[in-house]
Amino acid sequence: MGLEEYKGVFVFAQQVDNVLDGVAFELLGKGKELAKDLNTEVTAVLIGSGVKELADQLAEYGADRVIVVDDPQLKDYRTEPYAHALASVINEYKPEIMLVGATAIGRDLGPTVSARVKTGLTADCTMLEIGDFPLNAAAGQEQQHNQLLMTRPAFGGNTIATIACPYNRPQMATVRPGVMQKIAPIAGAKANVVEYNPGFTPNDRYVEILNIVKAVKNTANIMDAKILVSGGRGVGSKENFKLLEDLAEVLGGTVSCSRAVVENGWLPVDLQVGQTGKTVRPQIYFAIGISGAIQHVAGMEDSDLIVAINKDEDAPIFDVADYGLVGDLNKIVPALTTALKAELGK
Ligand code: FAD
Repeated sequence: MGLEEYKGVFVFAQQVDNVLDGVAFELLGKGKELAKDLNTEVTAVLIGSGVKELADQLAEYGADRVIVVDDPQLKDYRTEPYAHALASVINEYKPEIMLVGATAIGRDLGPTVSARVKTGLTADCTMLEIGDFPLNAAAGQEQQHNQLLMTRPAFGGNTIATIACPYNRPQMATVRPGVMQKIAPIAGAKANVVEYNPGFTPNDRYVEILNIVKAVKNTANIMDAKILVSGGRGVGSKENFKLLEDLAEVLGGTVSCSRAVVENGWLPVDLQVGQTGKTVRPQIYFAIGISGAIQHVAGMEDSDLIVAINKDEDAPIFDVADYGLVGDLNKIVPALTTALKAELGK
């Protein structure tokens, strides 16, 4: 079958316990842009048990069509039935592009499905656009138009690679939560809802779930915070993070950190910002005692306003900061907290 028979941008609409994951809306936002460039539609693929009523939410965030695979076998995520569901949807509806969130579920599902439908997948993309696949006449290649160009950091973040999948369909990519922007929801929008069930026959590859124990999280989700007070190795110790907690409290913000802090065991990995942590986009990001390594900056550079505090005036964090304070954080942070307390009447 020719590649030209594959049409449309598809997005895996991840849900857990019948609640849609934010990354589904983010992928729909990006999917809409790509679909516009290709003059086609965005389809959300909703897989689960009793999930049909979530279709309206997907429509509000940009889905033109929702393909629902609803079956009791799909109640909780398991690789085999979910991979069967998504691979069957791809084989039946033949999308040109298939986007999956790089969540724990997506990182398992995406590559399993891409292998099953015999196509490639680019993991952890930070940019997706439609463009031409460069001609390499020497290798006898023909110029390919309207390709999905998938960009991601490579070699530990030291370079940026743009990858295409010109000879197979669909073109598959995973994208980390927080990287793409969702659209403002269009209240009352409706999508064309299509129900499709490929049939599920449990076999010895179906994992049996005996019990689900949910981790109790007492850390805030830094991806939702409007103000982040982020600390790095320069904070010096776990105890000294109290200075940042005090500042965060006055501002109604949340504490986050660099990887060095996690590696030192000062804060949990849930609070790590960066390439291997979370991508954040708060209104204000304080980078305190953080040098500004490329892998850290990759996770926070889209913040609306960046304030950096560092004793080294040449620290690379100042290249991305809107405001920079050069000096000892042990003096600046408490002084800032006191001044803000007075200013805000706290
Ligand atoms: P440092 O680089 O040690 O910087 C500490 C800073 O504090 C310095 O600039 C110093 O001048 C300043 N300072 C010290 N004392 C004071 C003081 N008293 N007052 C004011 N300033 C002071 N890093 C991440 O953060 N997130 C990631 O997701 C991530 N992913 C990675 C993935 C890969 C594959 C690799 C190879 C690395 C990754 N890293 C990540 C690590 C990254 O390269 C850096 O090592 C890390 O970000 C450094 O953390 P830092 O800025 O806290 O520490």
